[in-house]
Amino acid sequence: MRLKIVQAGEKVLHQKARDLTVDEIRGETIGQLIEMMRETMRDAPGVGLAAPQTGMGIRLAVIEDREQYQKALPPEHLKKIERQPVPFHVIINPKIRLLEPDQANVFFEGCLSVAGFSALVPRARTVEVNCLNERAEPVRIEARGWYARILQHEIDHLDGTLYIHRMEPRSFVTNENLTRYWRDSSIADFRQALNL
Ligand code: ZN
Repeated sequence: MRLKIVQAGEKVLHQKARDLTVDEIRGETIGQLIEMMRETMRDAPGVGLAAPQTGMGIRLAVIEDREQYQKALPPEHLKKIERQPVPFHVIINPKIRLLEPDQANVFFEGCLSVAGFSALVPRARTVEVNCLNERAEPVRIEARGWYARILQHEIDHLDGTLYIHRMEPRSFVTNENLTRYWRDSSIADFRQALNL
């Protein structure tokens, strides 16, 4: 079953979500929610989905960056944004540390809860995340590049923060125009053309 993805302005997207208890994580309800979130994320399609995006104010997100999503993109682009496949996994009650904050690590980012748009967002290049998995076991993740960006984006959702709160406001564009006009341009060319 697919869940409805709520859009910016919905209260749950703008509030801090609560931690889950170990009993909750191991319970049937959360197990079913994870399955539905996986299906919803794949159907969208997206590379991450946080529980608040489905109307649930709890600190849980699913992440998966499939090889098939990357096939459509030029290899130079994938290399530039340091994007590699990430297998499906669940993060619960995550704590994030930005290991390599980098104001120069700026790329276009979008969100299923701000459907149809993208903007340039600076993100740390490397992060460390300590969280629980779906069996309530502790997990430590060290991530770099695009995967680090996904983790920052999803964990932001659990704190009521959307990418539009971190974006360069003048870079906000529709996905349609991003593809139509800027697909083959560098970010430097985009900046110059739009007076950023
Ligand atoms: Zn999002």
